[in-house]
Amino acid sequence: MYNEKSLKAEEFISDEEIRETLAYADENKDNREVVDRILANARQKKGLNHREASVLLACEIPEKLEEIYALAEQIKKDYYGNRIVLFAPLYLSNYCVNGCVYCPYHLKNKSIARKKLTQEEIRREVIALQDMGHKRLAIEAGEDPVNNPIEYILECINTIYGIKHKNGAIRRVNVNIAATTVENYRKLKEAGIGTYILFQETYHKETYERIHPTGPKHDYAYHTEAMDRAMEAGIDDVGLGVLFGLERYRYEFAGLLMHAEHLEAVHGVGPHTISVPRIKRAEGIDPSAFDNGISDDIFAKICALIRISVPYTGMIISTRESREVRERVLHLGVSQISGASKTSVGGYVEPEPEEENSQQFDVSDNRTLDEVVNWLMKLGYIPSFCTACYREGRTGDRFMALCKSMQILNCCHPNALMTLKEYLEDYAGEETREIGMELIARGLEEIPNPKAKQTAYAHIHDISKGKRDFRF
Ligand code: SAM
Repeated sequence: MYNEKSLKAEEFISDEEIRETLAYADENKDNREVVDRILANARQKKGLNHREASVLLACEIPEKLEEIYALAEQIKKDYYGNRIVLFAPLYLSNYCVNGCVYCPYHLKNKSIARKKLTQEEIRREVIALQDMGHKRLAIEAGEDPVNNPIEYILECINTIYGIKHKNGAIRRVNVNIAATTVENYRKLKEAGIGTYILFQETYHKETYERIHPTGPKHDYAYHTEAMDRAMEAGIDDVGLGVLFGLERYRYEFAGLLMHAEHLEAVHGVGPHTISVPRIKRAEGIDPSAFDNGISDDIFAKICALIRISVPYTGMIISTRESREVRERVLHLGVSQISGASKTSVGGYVEPEPEEENSQQFDVSDNRTLDEVVNWLMKLGYIPSFCTACYREGRTGDRFMALCKSMQILNCCHPNALMTLKEYLEDYAGEETREIGMELIARGLEEIPNPKAKQTAYAHIHDISKGKRDFRF
């Protein structure tokens, strides 16, 4: 029985409700009256429920698709402006006891080099990341209670926050580790993490169990209920995601929105971010072995509809996607991207020799961070290294309130300009610096509140004199 307030996975992600939703979408996808009514709702910019959004996903009427894309772009502009937040993943360990059939970390894979970073190796990785200009990391690890216990993860977080190299600093550590207990989530919260990210992989229970045949991750309910445990432990920024390619995308999309609705209904706050990874080639993994791969067109449609359906939720695109695909979806609602990522354990310090592959997946966008920053600015975006919200306690519903009050131009916008200025001073190439300085000059003039504008001008000046880490 479907119940969005239930704490049982099979009730808040009800298979029956998803099937009925897909049938409803099929019945109505060509009904212009229904589609127009849903689009009118979407124009209120307060989001759509999973049924409404599923109708739009099924709809193929060309002019309606144009309206969907235009609206996604408008909502993106209204809530996020033209800022794009940058981050990098840091792979700590690829030891894993699970049997996930799409992931090269799976226990039976003997051809992958197993690695786990020591604290000294982490120091070197983090210095390499700081020297590129990164301020925000997402740490990643396989699930292995012996090799990667929670104590190891906590020690790593502590090490990462403690490294101050030149003007470098990692100011926000997001965590992508396997589902765990309330007690462990409390420890992560105390360690000062930003977002806790856990991809559902698939919302389809039978498929989930089939592609996670062995190991603790096999337990669908334990995995699906993880965000409730994280929130119970006080982590109010959580990141959802589906690994597209495993199941039919319309099923996943409905499940993803139902999960977001569930978090809002039970905890009063929806997901902080949604990621949209697609399966990639990796050591021993062939993406074409999975039947449900989605085209770039469908991928773009999904991104636009996530933007429309959950306007207050950030959207993340990783380097799994190529420059071209990223360019296509940036304006449809993406708010965060990774740059210069290495998905191998220890890969930032030393590129791996071919025979020692420890990568989680092949990266499609191999540009340096400076190239990514430069590219973003040429496309009209402000690359942001901001980490202010969670350091100012604006997490969960307080972040949502900021978003809803549209104070972003007086707060996030100057924060983006100030952190970009730090980047330009400390790490940028010559051309990037030139473009960036002009962008900042124009951006400062766009701050509506006179007091905020004056303060931002003063901070930008101070940054050029060597001061760092200002924030609103
Ligand atoms: N081990 C953690 C867990 O169990 O949730 C998560 C860390 S894993 C390093 C991060 C994510 O990478 C996974 O949740 C999965 O969605 C994704 N991933 C795994 N294999 C992949 C592949 N071949 N291509 C693209 N993404 C993949």
